[in-house]
Amino acid sequence: MENLSTRDKKHLWHPLTQHKLNKRQLAIIKAKDALLYDEDEKEYIDGIASWYTVMYGHCNEYIVAAMTKQMNKLDFVMFSGLTHEPAIELSEKLMELLPNNQAKIFFNDNGSTAIEAAIKMALQYYHNHGEKRDTLIAFDDGFHGDTFGAMSASGLSSYNGPFEDFLLKVERIPTPQKDNIDEVKNRLALVLQENKCAGFIFEPLVQGAAGMKFHSAKGLDALVDLCHDNDVLCIADEVMTGFGKTGKNFASDYLKNKPDIICLSKALTAGMFPLSITSCSQAVYDRFLSDEVHKGFFHAHTFSAHPLGCAAAIAGIELLNSPEILERRTYIESAHVSYATIIKTHKNVSQTRVLGVILAIDLNVKMERYGNLRDKLYDFFIESGVLLRPLGNTIYVLPPYVITTAQLQKIYDTITAALETI
Ligand SMILES: *Cc1c(COP(=O)(O)O)cnc(C)c1O
Repeated sequence: MENLSTRDKKHLWHPLTQHKLNKRQLAIIKAKDALLYDEDEKEYIDGIASWYTVMYGHCNEYIVAAMTKQMNKLDFVMFSGLTHEPAIELSEKLMELLPNNQAKIFFNDNGSTAIEAAIKMALQYYHNHGEKRDTLIAFDDGFHGDTFGAMSASGLSSYNGPFEDFLLKVERIPTPQKDNIDEVKNRLALVLQENKCAGFIFEPLVQGAAGMKFHSAKGLDALVDLCHDNDVLCIADEVMTGFGKTGKNFASDYLKNKPDIICLSKALTAGMFPLSITSCSQAVYDRFLSDEVHKGFFHAHTFSAHPLGCAAAIAGIELLNSPEILERRTYIESAHVSYATIIKTHKNVSQTRVLGVILAIDLNVKMERYGNLRDKLYDFFIESGVLLRPLGNTIYVLPPYVITTAQLQKIYDTITAALETI
């Protein structure tokens, strides 16, 4: 029998891959906690928690047990006209955790569809009121997913190129940094004045796909405030930042002015199942209540609120602030800070940043998004038994909370070694 990587080539088309360049896909046959194993049983430390999802570790026994129990009781039913306990319990648990202006949970099945629902909610919110608003506001270099609405809001042109003529209308503003808050506020004020804006959509505090770029909480707070003054809905895309990544449960917890709509996916189900939610305030929900049927939100995905995903999410939330996980979250942040202080002075490093369990290291060499140097670093990490995916000029680490001290140290040592190869 040929090995998996060879069989893969016959029929599979991978995401974010130029197959002409003929890269081998590394075949993973099993995983446990922070470790992945390939078909030769070689192990890799999952330094990015499989795209920020498996925060409690791969094949987490507590979550697997909760899902197994659920699977044997109620596998799946549709969520229109029917309801079930896992969805109800998850909504109750999320309400305890989310900013307290959130009141309702709408279920979807992945990050992009959570964003689509949020955008449609915002557009219909005004439509139901007899107002046509046709513009969204979003940050430069934001990433919100790959479906059309989400892609429209995304500002990373490497993904959007061929589709630019077919997107929703979006006005872009820079992210607020310490030294440009007034400038960005003025730019937003102008956008608000010159367009009929329905929503401001943003990744709060950290732009993941852009290269773990940070912005000012105080600045974002001011922008949300300005939108609210102009009766424009604010949508926080917490698909990446949600569930403790930034130190608090949600990045929105750093804001005084809370978003009207919040999107969650990725770590929501601890990587166990594709599921997402779009939560909203009572005021947003109320705008859809009417004696006219069509003013309801006529949007659905077949697998909305899948009981297995809900069971995984409930178990994950139970772990999030458990003493064991909290201890690791605190440890990872302090270890990141110590390593960042050391590596900051390396000749190939321009700057470092840490927030919660996110560590980003910007290189002062030019690196194309999917170029040779990026591939060389990626291959070096894989050779060394560490899964890291450099983004643009940035190497970042976002490990599962359960990573051991020795595994985290190995990631740092591997990065230091990689910097010597540039
Ligand atoms: C991953 C991501 C998305 C898209 O989620 P998918 O499940 O991949 O569709 C949207 N927004 C942010 C911030 C993300 O990190």
